Amino acid sequence: MRLLADLHTHTVASGHAFSTVTELAGAAAQRGLELIAVTDHGPAVPGGAHLWHFWNMKVVPSVLGGVRILKGCEANPCADSANGMDLPDEMLAMLDFVAVGIHPECGFDGRDRLRNTEALLRIVANPFVDMITHPGNEDEFPVDLDAVVSAAVQHNVILELNNYSFDPRSGRHTSYEREREFAEAARDAGASIAINSDAHFHMLVGHFENALSVAEEIGFPEDRIVNRDAASVLGFLTAKRERPRLDAGGEW
Ligand SMILES: [Zn+2]
Ligand SMILES: [Zn+2]
Repeated sequence: MRLLADLHTHTVASGHAFSTVTELAGAAAQRGLELIAVTDHGPAVPGGAHLWHFWNMKVVPSVLGGVRILKGCEANPCADSANGMDLPDEMLAMLDFVAVGIHPECGFDGRDRLRNTEALLRIVANPFVDMITHPGNEDEFPVDLDAVVSAAVQHNVILELNNYSFDPRSGRHTSYEREREFAEAARDAGASIAINSDAHFHMLVGHFENALSVAEEIGFPEDRIVNRDAASVLGFLTAKRERPRLDAGGEW
């Protein structure tokens, strides 16, 4: 199976990634992708993007060099904010795509399964949230797998099968088995998944091999892999809620 969309990529605005939007789009075009979501880290991550970064994504073209660009974020759970995240609902409402994941040094480093699960359940129930990133990160941020999967089904939120989690360079690669268990639970519960690169450098955009082979091994139904192509992504997102800035920035 070939996937033509990558819903998790980072630019220099994340503070520890090394390419621009233009470079990501160029690499995506070269690999034959139709769509990428630019999902820089929210402000809770050390060096993460400021609120103004997300507000001003309206200047980024919605199509760049033939590749559809979703202006998105990878927000973080945040204990002391109104919506439980480091970006307010007003900001999330403006974005084309809202991913959320737990990261080091953002207030959840204690390996507290109950606390992590409660934070994620609240976030999954937020109508602006589209995807939970790397939920199978058992060694760093354990969660109650069944609770998160069934909430994701209930609220129509995508669970990510993150290709970089299987890369020995990743801090998450020791949770390989748990990533697989998450994918199996998602398969059995009827959840939607996305298989993404989590590229922090443009040459990694569209690399899905490890995660894709897990999905194929466990027989994950293709029609529930949201990032099959641009049409499947845009269909999923626009059915979920209005995307007021989807065409902002025009075609370049
Ligand atoms: Zn990162
Ligand atoms: Zn992440």
